[in-house]
Amino acid sequence: MTTDNRTNPIGVHALVWAGDTSPASMALAVEKTKATGYDLLEISLHDLANLDVDATRAALRSAGLGVACSRGLAFDADVSSDDASVVERGEQLLHDSLAATEALGGTHFTGALYSALGKYDHPLTEIGRRNVVSVLRRLAQEAGGRGMTLGLEICNRYETNVINTARDALRLADDIGEDNVLIHLDTYHMNIEEDDLVRPTQEVADRLGYVHIGENHRGYLGSGHLDFTSFFHALGDIEYTGPITFESFSSAVVMRGLSNDLAIWRNLWSDGEDLARHAHGFITDQLYTSHSR
Ligand code: MN
Repeated sequence: MTTDNRTNPIGVHALVWAGDTSPASMALAVEKTKATGYDLLEISLHDLANLDVDATRAALRSAGLGVACSRGLAFDADVSSDDASVVERGEQLLHDSLAATEALGGTHFTGALYSALGKYDHPLTEIGRRNVVSVLRRLAQEAGGRGMTLGLEICNRYETNVINTARDALRLADDIGEDNVLIHLDTYHMNIEEDDLVRPTQEVADRLGYVHIGENHRGYLGSGHLDFTSFFHALGDIEYTGPITFESFSSAVVMRGLSNDLAIWRNLWSDGEDLARHAHGFITDQLYTSHSR
């Protein structure tokens, strides 16, 4: 073993702590994120209407934590739709969410920014894809002016019909054509759609901008069958230095809307603090050994 030279910020998704973004829930999320050793809190913007941006920013700052924001769209506000009014509502949500991310002090806005989170009953249409490209190009240009990046999170077929694999995402990023559009890999989704966890990581390489670490069932890391050792080696090989965020969901903590969109029907854990401490240790160990030569 050599020295611990990891540089990746390690994050945790706020749904490990609380199911809404009320001031009390955000204060709790910030306190617990700090107490369990993380560098960054990821906040889902699905409850943006109830988020006290100024208070949350102040709490994050005083704790010395970074922040990233994520979201998916909705079937009535979907930039991959053929319907111009539905696309327009989706673009407005993205614009508002980008502004909230900046106001919170974040530079990473990521997720299923290109579609609703849910099971589509048809493939993506050509018109729908053109709408995704033109809306995300405008959003990326707006984000670039603010020094921010957009992440295209690759999701499984039951949650989107736009990008299910790293190759899909690279093609979409090429078509958008803006340098601040980065790829976001999530091991939970990769397990469903990719051949393995290594090849897509190598394909994405220096366009990787954000990572979600989740087990195949989205519970405790290491309690499922994902080959995290190979995945972390691949991250080391491409010299990835961006955020690595632990994402886990249980029916113990429910956010109306998001939990249902993600089909969180099971109780995979009940003690978020124990889960988060364990995950931080797991990720830190993997980073430590993957950097050793
Ligand atoms: Mn994810």
